[in-house]
Amino acid sequence: MSPLCLTHADGTTTTLRNRLLMGSMHTGLEELPDGWDRLAAFYAERAEGGVGLIVTGGLSPNREGNMWPGMRTLDSEESASPHRAITTAVHAHGAHIVIQLLHAGRYATHAEGVAPSALRSPISPATPREMSVEDIRRTISDYTQAAILAQSVGYDGVEIMGAEGYLINQFMAPRANQRNDEWGGSLENRIRFGVETVRQVRAATRSDFIVIFRLSMLDLVEGGCTWDEVVEMAKAVAVAGASIINPYVGWHESRVPTIATLVPRGAFTGLTRRLKSELDVPVVASNRINDPRLAEQILAQDGADLVSMARPLLADPMLLNKFASGQSALINTCIACNQGCLDEAFSGRLTTCMVNPRACRETELRIEPTAEPKRIAVVGAGPGGLAFAVTAAQRGHQVTLYDAASVVGGQFNLARLIPGKEEYSETLRYFSAELVRHGVKQRLGERASSESLLKAGFDHVVLATGVVPRRLTWPGIDHPRVLRYADVIEGRAPVGARVAIVGAGGIGFDVAELLSHEHLEGDELAQFTATWGIDLKGQNPGGMTEPHPARMRRELWLLQRRPDSLGKGLGKTTGWIRRALLRRRGVNMLSGVIYERFDDEGLHITVGGVTKILPVDHVVICAGQESERPLLGELERAGQPVSLVGGALMAGDLDATRAIDEGVRLACRL
Ligand code: NAP
Repeated sequence: MSPLCLTHADGTTTTLRNRLLMGSMHTGLEELPDGWDRLAAFYAERAEGGVGLIVTGGLSPNREGNMWPGMRTLDSEESASPHRAITTAVHAHGAHIVIQLLHAGRYATHAEGVAPSALRSPISPATPREMSVEDIRRTISDYTQAAILAQSVGYDGVEIMGAEGYLINQFMAPRANQRNDEWGGSLENRIRFGVETVRQVRAATRSDFIVIFRLSMLDLVEGGCTWDEVVEMAKAVAVAGASIINPYVGWHESRVPTIATLVPRGAFTGLTRRLKSELDVPVVASNRINDPRLAEQILAQDGADLVSMARPLLADPMLLNKFASGQSALINTCIACNQGCLDEAFSGRLTTCMVNPRACRETELRIEPTAEPKRIAVVGAGPGGLAFAVTAAQRGHQVTLYDAASVVGGQFNLARLIPGKEEYSETLRYFSAELVRHGVKQRLGERASSESLLKAGFDHVVLATGVVPRRLTWPGIDHPRVLRYADVIEGRAPVGARVAIVGAGGIGFDVAELLSHEHLEGDELAQFTATWGIDLKGQNPGGMTEPHPARMRRELWLLQRRPDSLGKGLGKTTGWIRRALLRRRGVNMLSGVIYERFDDEGLHITVGGVTKILPVDHVVICAGQESERPLLGELERAGQPVSLVGGALMAGDLDATRAIDEGVRLACRL
């Protein structure tokens, strides 16, 4: 990627070594007592990996603006000075770094929250206090003070968060701003807060201090801004002194997915190009860009001046260097699952990455050469087994990987067949390339026996044999029209027009998504925007339009025994999407179900004391998993050192995040 030269108002320039911007992510390290060194290591690894410009996670310029109690702010010399560890570490690798200033406004989860108007957001626990004019002026001055502090500790600039429904965005949109003074009402008044913040930050800092403005390009909420208003705002902040405009799509309270895996790659880049054509300052493309080839394409076609990636740099800090050196097959691609990152962050836990457990654990989880190379057998080539095999081989162990299947991947081979989860193939491509690179001997299509393992005389055996579907026992369970989920997902079992899915966990939802999926007219992007009601032409306020999801041709029931609503155990930031999708398609969701039997009439169930028959052609069993560890007893009795990872260790609460994490950690210990 070519460099980008920013020319400042006084004619001086800053050259970014390339056009990859690492987007802002709050990691949770910010609040830890030893967080500064860990953050420094986290950012330094990404700087070493080739990123040109890093944006840190957001910090508020005052306490009222914190998202939750106990967050760090940037409001004093004392709060600023530890940041030197970060800026020094990043500069040592030749990258630039700016700090994001984020005031939560009405998204604050504490009682001191403030906002343009006293309107509670649908996702907030508290109603904010309406800001007085004095509050507004003081807050702008707090932003300015924070920028001066950032400059004093070595940051190359700030990013002012004006998107995602946070305070500045709240001032902009009638949805959250119902003021009738000079800070509300007309567009000029609504954008005044953001524009004035940029103007004062610009005036108070060095002329080569980078001021990025994160702009909400498409609010995706009722009462959001129109496209013309967005363009006016972008022009006004550019005139006020913004060096770069970094557009984003959606508010946190939007009920439209914008970065989950089912969002097509680069879905919003057409809009970015349109915005860029209106502006003279550099513009960034973001949202679901996870492949440097796509980034290059956007830049080459003049769709943006920089490309932002955030989660992809959690997944692989060396992404750009690998791309630049022609090693794209070795990139550990972000699959936008959100399981390790956003789900954790929004649960108040430390961010990580499902496919890279080292993310945010750089100082603790080190992959170092072993002093005692061992001969290790790994049985099972699912995510946990693969993660172990690759990491152990990388450390210098001699690893042989067995799997009864002829391909690696285990349950990921099912996940990647679900419409909207195609990205899971990338993880298997990455692991396959790493197996070859690190010389792992692959014995695929071979069911390892305890005799063969013992005979081979391995120093250690790792059982990553995963899980088997739970066997149910009600009458009719062996009927030929009762199907295994793997047969359905892999297309081995024809499925009729009326289907009941027993079990509504991760796999039940996957099967429901597969069986309810219908192709709409048009390409992937057209289907996505029609399903979710997104107006990419910018004709409607907030970019919202009437959704036109494809109604499924089947009749589908998704069932669970628990009385609570379905999908509660799904990911915190993606579960709502999956529930909404099935609702839009017309899937019947029933909880509190007692299964009685299946026969030629259909599935007999009792719900709320009423017995009924679902007249279905097929039932698909997705009733959870049990551990599969057939070799353990014999190996242990023979004195073979054995370890377990993933589902073989514990089937309950299994997910790939845990399996991969366990695989990597075990490989670092052995
Ligand atoms: P799961 O998430 O534990 O769900 C099992 C489902 O089966 C539950 O709905 C449960 O609900 C039902 N069930 C349990 N025992 C039953 C019984 N005896 N009779 C009838 N129903 C029974 O398991 P899974 O769906 O197999 O998923 C396996 C793992 O893969 C999960 O940990 C999941 O996180 C992961 N996964 C995740 C995703 C994802 O998108 N994040 C997708 C696929 C898989 P009731 O007990 O209320 O009936």
